[in-house]
Amino acid sequence: STYIVIGAGILGASTAYHLAKSGADVTVVDKKHDGQATDAAAGIVCPWLSQRRNKAWYRLAKYGAKYYQDLIASLEADGETNTGYKKVGAISIHTDENKLDKMQERAYKRREDAPEIGDISRLLEDKTQREFPFLQNGFQSVHISGAARVNGRALCEALLAGAKKHGAKLIHDEAKLLYKGKKIRGVLTSSATIEADYVIVTAGAWARELFEPIGIDLQVTYQKAQIMHLQLDEEDTGSLPVVMPPNDQYILAFEQGKIVIGATHENDTGFDYRVTAGGVYEVLNKALEIAPGLADGAIDEIRVGFRPFTPGFLPIIGAVPSHSNVFLANGLGASGLTVGPYLGSQLAKLALGQEIELPLEDYSVEDAIQANKYMF
Ligand code: FAD
Repeated sequence: STYIVIGAGILGASTAYHLAKSGADVTVVDKKHDGQATDAAAGIVCPWLSQRRNKAWYRLAKYGAKYYQDLIASLEADGETNTGYKKVGAISIHTDENKLDKMQERAYKRREDAPEIGDISRLLEDKTQREFPFLQNGFQSVHISGAARVNGRALCEALLAGAKKHGAKLIHDEAKLLYKGKKIRGVLTSSATIEADYVIVTAGAWARELFEPIGIDLQVTYQKAQIMHLQLDEEDTGSLPVVMPPNDQYILAFEQGKIVIGATHENDTGFDYRVTAGGVYEVLNKALEIAPGLADGAIDEIRVGFRPFTPGFLPIIGAVPSHSNVFLANGLGASGLTVGPYLGSQLAKLALGQEIELPLEDYSVEDAIQANKYMF
């Protein structure tokens, strides 16, 4: 059978990689819009301390974090070693010891069925400082050794390069759905008509407009994020842990003095690609309050990305109810780097007609489609 994947952020890139690896004939069409979420993303893979109560979300995030082990090994076997993934651990910092106690308890409980969390330890102030020397005084932390950071851009490129090695074709263009009567036949690009047996839509924040012409109202929205990259003189930053502060922000260190701080959560902006005064102010203000030692860093770049969300704030995966040869996944929200590689592997299986381990009813595509809006 032949497959087309529309959209190659982390989700589509993983789907294409797994499809191609299994021997399927795959064509990827990706526009790489400005604001692609994967390209802007921070890169924390550490879902276990989250206080979010939704079980379906946690299950997916847990599987997602665990799956990295297999995925990175598989990419390395394909010669793709520049994945931007590293298990550097994380410190969740706080000034309130009670909160840290609760966090630690939660981590122990979750480790019972998620041994990939690794070692859990409590660090007093001096040790916390030593883990991340730029921090404000007064923080203690819970350290999780199994947490990782990943460079979304690098991983996405590695997945696409791996997919190509297994025979996938990549087209850099915008795709529209090609249909005849009730059936989706493939896609139209600016220069070609490409037919395929199956079409897989992993188009993130842009998926809604893609489905519009066939009368499907896929209720995917998005949230704007601005995120800043700093460059420090200090070069030995590659092994520093991810810092998870009490506010809704984070600090990540990459190789050679690159530090990523962010991000904003801006609703109802539309596709506004601007870096704004308010956005930059918020990111800097919150980060420097936590880590004043970063104040001397040079501002290297500021990226803007759109996190895709569904009405239920949960990822969705499945076939489009009215078109059984069209599959989609979406709604990865703020944890898509964690979930994306795994969900892509499951989406590939689904499209190949293989059994998958996820209970699909928990991530139903139907929930995000306005029922009476089918054109056919
Ligand atoms: P995208 O990456 O947006 O990819 C969609 C792709 O589809 C794009 O390339 C687009 O051009 C293409 N496309 C759309 N329509 C068409 C069309 N018609 N034709 C051709 N191509 C099309 N997650 C974590 O787990 N940890 C983090 O620390 C983290 N930090 C984040 C920080 C920021 C600032 C942001 C923005 C996100 C962060 N996320 C994080 C979330 C994560 O980045 C997203 O959930 C994830 O990248 C979504 O991936 P996606 O493939 O669904 O969408």
